[in-house]
Amino acid sequence: MTDKRKNAEQQEIKDQETGQQEYIFIVRCGEVALKGMNKPYFERMLLERIKKLLRKFDGVRAYRHEGLIYVRAERSPEGGSLSEAEMLSRKQAILKEIGKVFGVASISPAMECESTMEDIGRKAVEYMMEAINEHGVKTFKIEAKRADKNFPVKSPDIAGQIGAAVLKGCKVLKVDVHEPDVRLFVDVRHDKSYIYRDKVPGFGGLPLGTNGKGMSLLSGGIDSPVSTWMMAKRGMLIEAVHFHSFPYTSRRAQEKVEELASLVATYCGRFRMHVVNLLPIQEQIVQNCPEEETTILVRRFMVRIAEELAKANDCNMLITGENLGQVASQTAEALVVTDASVQMPVMRPLIGLDKTDIMDLAREIGTYDKSIEPYEDCCTVFLPKHPSTKPKLDRILQSESKLDCETLIKEAIEAEEIIEIRPA
Ligand code: ATP
Ligand code: MG
Repeated sequence: MTDKRKNAEQQEIKDQETGQQEYIFIVRCGEVALKGMNKPYFERMLLERIKKLLRKFDGVRAYRHEGLIYVRAERSPEGGSLSEAEMLSRKQAILKEIGKVFGVASISPAMECESTMEDIGRKAVEYMMEAINEHGVKTFKIEAKRADKNFPVKSPDIAGQIGAAVLKGCKVLKVDVHEPDVRLFVDVRHDKSYIYRDKVPGFGGLPLGTNGKGMSLLSGGIDSPVSTWMMAKRGMLIEAVHFHSFPYTSRRAQEKVEELASLVATYCGRFRMHVVNLLPIQEQIVQNCPEEETTILVRRFMVRIAEELAKANDCNMLITGENLGQVASQTAEALVVTDASVQMPVMRPLIGLDKTDIMDLAREIGTYDKSIEPYEDCCTVFLPKHPSTKPKLDRILQSESKLDCETLIKEAIEAEEIIEIRPA
């Protein structure tokens, strides 16, 4: 056997093995693809994020090619010791992780073929056989696309010919162009082609780090983890501040917030959380100001402290989980009076959502169960019996004039604790 031929054969064996030993995921960017001149920048950022999130898996690589992002993962790294079930759960875990990257519109676990009608037909049969055996599939439809316009067969003919090959290879199958059990996509590209059936939706949004940094007011409730997540989804880096009233609020309550923050960090990466004791301020308010104003006064202090921290840490804006009309402190009047205490814009991404929608989102992103664990919050300490729902700014300013606001804020910040939040 000539060396040349031997090499070619070895290459073929290697290719076959690669096909079998790797999971391939095609990752589509959503809005990222629409960004015109900035497109390469956004795509690079997206790829970086994907790489970063996949770092915890061995034998995985991600790269960009012809406008798509590919992730290739060895089925069984470290010498191939994984069982079938372990390989499958590894595949699922990788898929889930890619789905968490903002900017990803959808992901398809795919099968790679040579860009020839024979190989595509053969792999399509193999693929559908598996679908029949595993899912009892009876009908299918081929959707073909030809990114390589030099490919000698046109898209409708690709669909027709591969469809015929599948019908011949899988006798139990029938074509149904309206409501098929499986829509089999054939994506013919220059060097390799791909077949896949599922488009697993991602969250969309924009890659992290493409849109400034926000200081998020993070409580242990349902709303603020969601609002933080929503701003991060638009590409915003996150830093957070949490207020407590130790010893009225417990150490465990703070740990819960840290755990919640860690869940958010699985999307937005590690971030810093400033932990500030609000008790001295709350005590001053209770001693010196009308009871019904307590809530709004506390909130004004919260955003002012958050603004100071934001300025010191290069943040562009504040983020809260407030939602119009949900509670006394979130009436239109209260929100206006709260905002009047700061210059920085306060983003409230949940403002127009219903509580049920927020709860659904919290479940979807995985923060809900942690949020509903019953622990006390600093807001519930010294809660007035009848909080003012229509506070007037001049009255509030009058009350604040009885306090040394600047010193109180300065001391609260000086006593802060900073915690590094890592992904759960
Ligand atoms: P959440 O579910 O986010 O706690 P909520 O419906 O309980 O919100 P409030 O307690 O009035 O409403 O809080 C409104 C917003 O103020 C929160 O979404 C959060 O951004 C901020 N906030 C409230 N409590 C705290 C806290 N202890 N530390 C930091 N931010 C807080
Ligand atoms: Mg709350």
